[in-house]
Amino acid sequence: MVHDFDGILYPRIDTTKCINCKVCIKACSVLNKKESRFPYYTIAAFNKNNNIRKESSSGGIFTLVAEKIINEGGVVFGARFNNNWDVIHDYTDNIENLQWFRGSKYVQSCIGNCYSIAKTFLDKNKKVLFTGTPCQISGLRQYLGKEYDNLICMDVICHGVPNQLVWQDYLREQKQILWNKDISYRDISFRNKDNGWKGYNIRMLYVQNGYNVSDKVYSHSEPFYNNTYMTAFLNNLSLIPSCFSCHAKCGKSGSDITIGDFWGVDEILQEFDDDKGCSIVLCYTEKGNKMIESLKMQCKEVLYSEILKHNMCIEQSVERPLYWGLFYKLWIILRFHKALKIIRTRNLVIRIVRRTYILLACKNGI
Ligand SMILES: Cc1cc2nc3c(=O)[nH]c(=O)nc-3n(C[C@H](O)[C@H](O)[C@H](O)COP(=O)(O)OP(=O)(O)OC[C@H]3O[C@@H](n4cnc5c(N)ncnc54)[C@H](O)[C@@H]3O)c2cc1C
Repeated sequence: MVHDFDGILYPRIDTTKCINCKVCIKACSVLNKKESRFPYYTIAAFNKNNNIRKESSSGGIFTLVAEKIINEGGVVFGARFNNNWDVIHDYTDNIENLQWFRGSKYVQSCIGNCYSIAKTFLDKNKKVLFTGTPCQISGLRQYLGKEYDNLICMDVICHGVPNQLVWQDYLREQKQILWNKDISYRDISFRNKDNGWKGYNIRMLYVQNGYNVSDKVYSHSEPFYNNTYMTAFLNNLSLIPSCFSCHAKCGKSGSDITIGDFWGVDEILQEFDDDKGCSIVLCYTEKGNKMIESLKMQCKEVLYSEILKHNMCIEQSVERPLYWGLFYKLWIILRFHKALKIIRTRNLVIRIVRRTYILLACKNGI
């Protein structure tokens, strides 16, 4: 995998070693597109354990499914932070460790060699729950190339994923902007629910280097709509380019279950709207159905067409913003905060320069 000039990782074939077997073409989920599928049924649901629900982004359904798999002797794959606050895929067979995977991390997770590890478990007849974005599930399915009775795949409804290097840049700058000290990150939550689920915060805990951890813990929390990283994410500026034409949405990922936020719950199902987090669960297969029926949770069936009105990301890719390319170019030169400021400013002169750049870029086919 090689970073291109935008810092995005792509596979590159080493032609000196290639034996032209074309396995990479057969295993590519972008080249081997699947048909759209629609869920058998859709439910609104949440975990009855309020502590787990608070730690989760939506209704805490991921943890319910994962606990069941581990209790049956299986392993669970998901996305976690590593020591450097990169997001990576990993696995566990321990319920305590599920906290690693709980909560959405709005960064592209590095899949590493998780597909081949999952295959090893599957071939040994161990139950495997593989969770991730639709494209990651689609990649796993294509890599495995056959059905396994002991595999259950669960993806998240996905807005798109930002580039890891933009995330690392944001972390480095944010630390400098907020604290004029030698400080490290101690905890990061993209979906802190202290102010409720709908108006969630992004919360970071920091510890001053060289001090006893309990002495010097600093906290910074702000609503997602005031946070610069979330602004770039939700305006699609920091997304990787493949997210603008996702091949795995609309059931094409091959997952058994899809989970997401039940946006619109206040209109559709007021009795589930306590602002502590509610999930939407889409069931695509008999295996998924069996799993959902076995879970002890608060749930009620809702119409797919209703939830789609509030969550178009289930079926459609988000739009590439006009200034996406410009944001990436500016980010490479000026880094994250300055690039975002130029893209978002209402200053007339900068707006004219921005527009002129776009017109020239279009004219020159860039
Ligand atoms: C990048 C991203 C974009 C999303 N966009 C939407 C959206 O537009 N609409 C919507 O309704 N829901 C979206 N979600 C899903 C939503 O935020 C919740 O993750 C989902 O509802 C599950 O919540 P939960 O409470 O059941 O479990 P949680 O404990 O909150 O979810 C944990 C699950 O998310 C997975 N996960 C976390 N971060 C990543 C990551 N970076 N890459 C891959 N998997 C990850 C974990 O592996 C685990 O399976 C998105 C999630 C991610 C990660």
